[in-house]
Amino acid sequence: MKTNKLCLSIFLLFLSFTTIAQLKTPDEFLGYTLGERFTPHHRMEAYFKYVAENNPNIKLEYYGETYEHRPLFVAYITSPENFEKLEDIRKANLARAGFGNSSNITDKSTLVWLSYNVHGNEAVSMEASMKTLYDLADKSNSKTQTWLKNTVVIIDPCINPDGRDRYANWYIQFGNKPDSADPNSKEHHEPWLSGRSNHYMFDLNRDWAWLTQIESQSRIKIYNRWLPQVHVDFHEQGYNAPYYFAPAAEPYHEVITPWQREFQMKIGKNHAKYFDQNGWLYFSKEVFDLLYPSYGDTYPVYSGAIGMTYEQGGIGAGLSITKNDGNLLTLKDRIAHHYTTGLSTIEVASLNAERLVDEFENYYKKPAPSRYKSFVIKGTTDSDELKRLTRFFDEHLIKYGAATSNLSSKGFSYADVSQQPKVSVSTNDLVINLNQPKANLVRVLFEPQTKLSDSLTYDITAWTLPYSHNLKAFALEEIIAHSGEYPIAEPSNEFSEKPYAYLSKWNDTEDAKWLGYLIQNGIKVSFAENDFQVDGKSFKRGTLIISRGINVGNNQFDEIVVSSAKKHNRNLHAATTGFVASGNDFGSSSVKYIKPPKIAILSGSGASTLSFGEVWHFFEQEIGYPATVLDTDYFGGVNLDQYNVLIIPNGYYGSNLKTGDKTNLADWVKKGNKLILMENALSSFADVDGFGLKTASESDTLKKERPNLESYENEERYALTEYTPGSIFKLVTDRSNPLFFGLENDYFSLKLDSHAYKLLSEGANPGYIKSKNNLVNGFVGSELLKKLENSLSYGIENIGRGSVIYMADNPLFREFWQSGKLVFSNAVFLVDQR
Ligand SMILES: [Zn+2]
Repeated sequence: MKTNKLCLSIFLLFLSFTTIAQLKTPDEFLGYTLGERFTPHHRMEAYFKYVAENNPNIKLEYYGETYEHRPLFVAYITSPENFEKLEDIRKANLARAGFGNSSNITDKSTLVWLSYNVHGNEAVSMEASMKTLYDLADKSNSKTQTWLKNTVVIIDPCINPDGRDRYANWYIQFGNKPDSADPNSKEHHEPWLSGRSNHYMFDLNRDWAWLTQIESQSRIKIYNRWLPQVHVDFHEQGYNAPYYFAPAAEPYHEVITPWQREFQMKIGKNHAKYFDQNGWLYFSKEVFDLLYPSYGDTYPVYSGAIGMTYEQGGIGAGLSITKNDGNLLTLKDRIAHHYTTGLSTIEVASLNAERLVDEFENYYKKPAPSRYKSFVIKGTTDSDELKRLTRFFDEHLIKYGAATSNLSSKGFSYADVSQQPKVSVSTNDLVINLNQPKANLVRVLFEPQTKLSDSLTYDITAWTLPYSHNLKAFALEEIIAHSGEYPIAEPSNEFSEKPYAYLSKWNDTEDAKWLGYLIQNGIKVSFAENDFQVDGKSFKRGTLIISRGINVGNNQFDEIVVSSAKKHNRNLHAATTGFVASGNDFGSSSVKYIKPPKIAILSGSGASTLSFGEVWHFFEQEIGYPATVLDTDYFGGVNLDQYNVLIIPNGYYGSNLKTGDKTNLADWVKKGNKLILMENALSSFADVDGFGLKTASESDTLKKERPNLESYENEERYALTEYTPGSIFKLVTDRSNPLFFGLENDYFSLKLDSHAYKLLSEGANPGYIKSKNNLVNGFVGSELLKKLENSLSYGIENIGRGSVIYMADNPLFREFWQSGKLVFSNAVFLVDQR
């Protein structure tokens, strides 16, 4: 018996040794050395699967699929002991953050999450993830196996598979064999659509908080099920730069704790040790700050983690490139660097596991002190916006509810920043207070002013939720109690008789989505230009009027309208008459028929991929309305008469839009069509014959000879006086103009560049900046602020029978500006219907 047992043990030992001996390295599995080629996404997936199948304490979890149907997954790697109780570790970790009950787990294993390749053309990351995985899976590696005793590593090898494969496929097609290190070689110059972004050309590293893209929506679910203590986002920067790692640059947001700062320093020092040993160059404490909440470093930071960005120099480097300093940079070098920081991160986390876990718990138990402690949003329980917001809060584990009692308080009004009004809170109001685990994140999303310790920042400095969602909202200095839920009423839409007309509100992109559906299904729709009353009820301007009279001959009229209203959750009013008590009767010329838009969007060289992607995504994914994508390559030869709306997204068109193209466009508009120009597309039409747009001239102070007055070290700071990284202005808004129909408040606009245009002398200026007092949040340089006085944000010029809509500010920016999407819908469907 004894002998048998011994034999069995020896046999098992032998078996496990052979398993170890057999675990293939990435090189052995793939059949080439890492760094010799770019690995396609499905081959990387195959390697992860193989390792998980051959190591009992590694498993994969699939969490979603990209727009192009590539799989999204993570791998969990830890010690055999931890692996057995992985689910208990997860629950204990969440309980420390205040979610769920604590389990019987008392040990303090830390969670380290490594995310690779959020930017597809920063292509080294996914390659490095395989090498890192192998070291963690390799049982003979005593270092990594020791770390895993108190550390659970979660690897997301590729956050953006569509972009990554786009880059890799392109490189495989155009790369020389052998590869050319000459920076002029085509393989170092990606075409118009680079691999950086996802399918819809969104930057996924700006989407962690807003969750507009399917990759982010899928990832946040799994991320918030774990809430790691350390999160690393692996990137690349220009290939002439060396390596960047923590600590991050100022500004840091105020809620960031001393421990979060301290640990960044510990990590940085550990990486430096390895880089010093190898003589590799690096920098830290510069460029990459911690402020904008939608990054892969800041979002984790505001969720209690040490969130970090690591940047290898390498964008465009292909398999090898000669740098400015004459040295050769290879993909193999880049892999070695990311692999080194990945393992070094796990090492430091393991050495500090207990402290990491304790400080994580502290982060959730003791949020940063804040002047404002509750945020109250006025609303009704059938509001699309509140429904959207509650879904948004659920995704971020943010607690909210209806106010439990009617009361009055004092606070800050987002809509009217100069006032400290009395606020009456009612039980219909949605309340979010800081008495909850995600208090710091709530505060970052709602704070009226972002405090900057330094005005040099990498991204927009303002994102306040009540502005982006055009909410009637207040920040209060006391904790307001709420019920813990906010039920949204569902419409019933049961009608016994066939009405004269169906009426439906217009204040949300959900309304635009339904309107788009009706139009595509042959229903004719009008809208009211003025408020009106009928059947004893009041309706606001913009209300959709779907009358039987205009749909004469359509015997499916009632069925299509009522069933689609149900499907789209629209609350219909069945009007018994078109004779109104106030306002305009339904046959009035002030009730405008919405001519079905036939839409074209310009893309290609000159257009900003991000901006074009936003427009594209808006039509395909947000409202489901068809639009034809054109390209600047052949735009001049397209007969535009097939379309009545043309959208030119933000871009630097230059010679991509020829003078002849612009003349043709002016003629096309005259025939009764609509041209929508966005952001810098305006500059291609400013001061051009046939268009009334004029550039604002520079102020005298701007023209002064500053380079001679400024020292070399101050030059960068002086440039800031003419700059905004993104800031919020409360526009002077004409809400009687259809462009702003459905808004709850004056429009708050995100200003992203330093262009300024004069108000239209012939045309409407429904949204503009009057003075510097219109700035409500974010950094704007002093000179730019002067230049923006009396400048156009949104203008409409009638040319012949058509119109041009000038959008100097991008209402679709990253698609998180919810009210901007309504303005854009207005431009497409309501403006200039005659
Ligand atoms: Zn990047």
